[in-house]
Amino acid sequence: MHFDIVVAGGGPAGLSFAASLGGSGLSVAVVDKLDATSLADPPFDGREIALTHLSLALLKEIGAWDRIPAGDISEMHAARVLNGASTFAVNFDPRRRRPGTPLGHLVANHLIRRAVHDAAVALPEVTLLAGVSVARVETTARGATVHLSDDRSLTARLVVAADTRFSELRRRQGIPAKMLDFGRVMLVCRVAHERAHSHIATEWFDYGQTMATLPLNGNASSFVLTLPARQMDEVMAMDTETFDADITRRYRRRLGAMHLVSSRHTYPLVAVYAQRFHGTRFALVGDAAVGMHPVTAHGFNFGLLGANTLARGIKDAARRGVDIASQTVLHDYEQEHRRATLPTYLATNATARLYVDERRPARMVRDVALRVGAVVPPFRQMITARLMGTGRRVADAA
Ligand SMILES: Cc1cc2nc3c(=O)[nH]c(=O)nc-3n(C[C@H](O)[C@H](O)[C@H](O)COP(=O)(O)OP(=O)(O)OC[C@H]3O[C@@H](n4cnc5c(N)ncnc54)[C@H](O)[C@@H]3O)c2cc1C
Repeated sequence: MHFDIVVAGGGPAGLSFAASLGGSGLSVAVVDKLDATSLADPPFDGREIALTHLSLALLKEIGAWDRIPAGDISEMHAARVLNGASTFAVNFDPRRRRPGTPLGHLVANHLIRRAVHDAAVALPEVTLLAGVSVARVETTARGATVHLSDDRSLTARLVVAADTRFSELRRRQGIPAKMLDFGRVMLVCRVAHERAHSHIATEWFDYGQTMATLPLNGNASSFVLTLPARQMDEVMAMDTETFDADITRRYRRRLGAMHLVSSRHTYPLVAVYAQRFHGTRFALVGDAAVGMHPVTAHGFNFGLLGANTLARGIKDAARRGVDIASQTVLHDYEQEHRRATLPTYLATNATARLYVDERRPARMVRDVALRVGAVVPPFRQMITARLMGTGRRVADAA
């Protein structure tokens, strides 16, 4: 079987990329090891994705946004950051300058997956090969061969790997990646609570633990707890009643009593940045290129942006009748996506490292950093614009 492009990995980034190629006339195969039912209707995985305004526009553009039920989208009106036992908070609130404009929107990851799946498979250009892995990829200047786990092989002009932050295909292509293991595990679940959240997200860098609540519709939130692995094992072993009491106590009853209303899911915290985003007739998108620490909620937002950047370059090349996998097309994608992601990647890692450092000097620095940040308007404006994903256009929002 021959395709113009083979995408390895039908996660949110791989499928968004395929959907971004709508109207190009290029044939695209998306290969995922999950079965067709799990791709079409993925189960809840605990993640609530904070989407920027730019991501919302990109999801609309690829026909995915309207496939998300309106009642499953919640607005995030503002965010605040707390440190340790201090009552001091830094607030990111665009409402004073831009009334009615939320900071972002929250959508469960499995619903995003479903929406981008449906948008991609609705395209005549896209073929989904489910329940089979990409085992190996061979590329030359003239073309690529993709070997599947069921002994079939596909040929293509370009292979795009979107096979998680631990990308096996990236490694096999000899592309090194910098990995930063934070030695922590993140638990995510949904909770109901007594008090209203007023659609404000809270990130609390407490000592020995980090917690966040992301406002969902009604008196419910996504609860995010970060702990060292051994402590997390104990939390995961708790029955529901004990867990409810534990998280209510940990969160100092800020939202009153909390009650688990979903399954609990854990993720190891490892940030990854590929040294290159492409090889010969080979490109990386999504977490395989840039795997963010979730604390600044940029992973999928960047995945979507990268998918759009690469698809734009490919469509332009196809329109001009030049090679869609030329070094120029792939190099331009790499440059643009690196510029868009690297500063935030580095700043996110520095923040995450500082706020898990329990030594006394670090505790003092994080308090000072937060207070300085709070009184320096450009800092707040920059973070707010970043959160909203609209760059300079809303730099005066905060
Ligand atoms: C707790 C948590 C909270 C997060 N919150 C946010 C947030 O608020 N905002 C945000 O923007 N991002 C957030 N993220 C990040 C976001 O979830 C990821 O960036 C996104 O899921 C990455 O998508 P992906 O398609 O690159 O990879 P994945 O979701 O990892 O999908 C990869 C796919 O590739 C398939 N695959 C792997 N290997 C092969 C192979 N060899 N052959 C075939 N198929 C293969 C897998 O089956 C899978 O379907 C969060 C992440 C976590 C862990």
